[in-house]
Amino acid sequence: MTLRPSSVRVRLTLWYTIILAGIVLALFLAVYLFVKASLVRQLDREVESEFQSVSQALAEEPNELSDVEAEESGRAFQVVRAGAVLFETSAFKMSGLRIAEPAAPAVTRTVMTPAGNRFRVKTGPAGPDLALSVAVTEEPVRGVLRTLLVIFALALPAGLVLAALGGSVMAGRLLRPVDLMAARAEKISAESLSSRLPVEDPRDEFGRMAGVINRMLSRLEEAFERLRRFTADASHELRTPLAAIQSVGEVALQEDLDAAAYRDRIGSMLEEVSRLSRLVDSLLTLTRADAGALDIRRKEIDAARLVAQAVEDMRPLAEEKRQNLTVSAEGPVLVRADEATLRLALVNLLDNAIKYTPPLGTIVAGARIRGGEVLVEVADSGPGIPIEHADRIFDRFYRVDQSRSGQAGGAGLGLAIAKWAVEANGGRIELESREAGGSTFRLVLPPIL
Ligand code: ADP
Repeated sequence: MTLRPSSVRVRLTLWYTIILAGIVLALFLAVYLFVKASLVRQLDREVESEFQSVSQALAEEPNELSDVEAEESGRAFQVVRAGAVLFETSAFKMSGLRIAEPAAPAVTRTVMTPAGNRFRVKTGPAGPDLALSVAVTEEPVRGVLRTLLVIFALALPAGLVLAALGGSVMAGRLLRPVDLMAARAEKISAESLSSRLPVEDPRDEFGRMAGVINRMLSRLEEAFERLRRFTADASHELRTPLAAIQSVGEVALQEDLDAAAYRDRIGSMLEEVSRLSRLVDSLLTLTRADAGALDIRRKEIDAARLVAQAVEDMRPLAEEKRQNLTVSAEGPVLVRADEATLRLALVNLLDNAIKYTPPLGTIVAGARIRGGEVLVEVADSGPGIPIEHADRIFDRFYRVDQSRSGQAGGAGLGLAIAKWAVEANGGRIELESREAGGSTFRLVLPPIL
């Protein structure tokens, strides 16, 4: 189990407070040590001057030490000769300091009495056989340091509490955009994809994040809208043949017909059924393409051979309309593509050319290389496509002329499938429509590297 708080705000505040406490502690320690050192140094200077003045008096008038004591109240010093006290002031006696050992050279140190009082004591030689000890109480220094500690002990927690509160308020204010974004995002669903996250300042990190999410929402909204339109259009297209089957069947049932007439009705119902199943096939292809469920395996193939085969497969349809369907290709045209999808694109183009070119018209399918790119083309002598439709012709369910397409039975999916199929192979689709009528659809595929 970790002790990590779940709120970023609490974590930020905690870190901020801990770091601040560390800095303040270090700062206090530095101040404390500096004050202590300078106070002790000052004390040592005092001890030193006292030592000098007493040892001077001792040298000049060794018998007048009581006078020296009387000069200033509270003076504490002791003179020892051969381990026996020669003189000590009453302050020294009362302090409880022990007899000082003679020290040569002189030392200054802190001595603690049995009663717990500290003195700064300098002990050193002060004449033949004489050892002098001078003591100054450390109490004022201790007092200052104690006060410093008390001030710090009171100020630190109070300061930290204030800093933590301030930090928490600040973190809360900084993180507010995140709360607002979360609250808004919570309400966004497939039905309300048009709403966006609030952006307080687009330049800061949260603003940029909200911007990224908003752009993602726009893409999702577009995708949903496309899907919705696709479903609506598909349902609409499915309804037409179904309604036809139903009405033909109902009418046939109401009438009393002979066998030949019934066969005729069933024939037209079956025509609608095959139209329906072509539509369902197209829808399935597109849905699977959208889902990325179609396997694309690109390998080196001969586009000229592919064109020739597709043309042969479609020839019966063209012959029905007595159209002149020919292939124009010289030698193999190698391309890297998935054969099945490229074939799907080509068959859709041929199907359209045959559908929309009037009887006795001409259709030429070919494969060639232009500037390194491989072109697979289907040109017809049909009505052509008005320029204003050129942009939308590859959209799903888009038809130039509802009645023209309706007669031929298209739902407007053929070119959308062809476009997807060529793009899945790394290529693009182009349309070239001539003023004089006739159109050329071109699949442009990248060269083999
Ligand atoms: P459909 O299934 O209706 O043929 P497509 O997506 O294949 O749908 O084509 C979209 C529209 O483009 C058709 O309805 C038709 O009006 C027009 N079109 C396609 N190919 C040709 C062509 N070769 N000549 C004239 N018009 C065409």
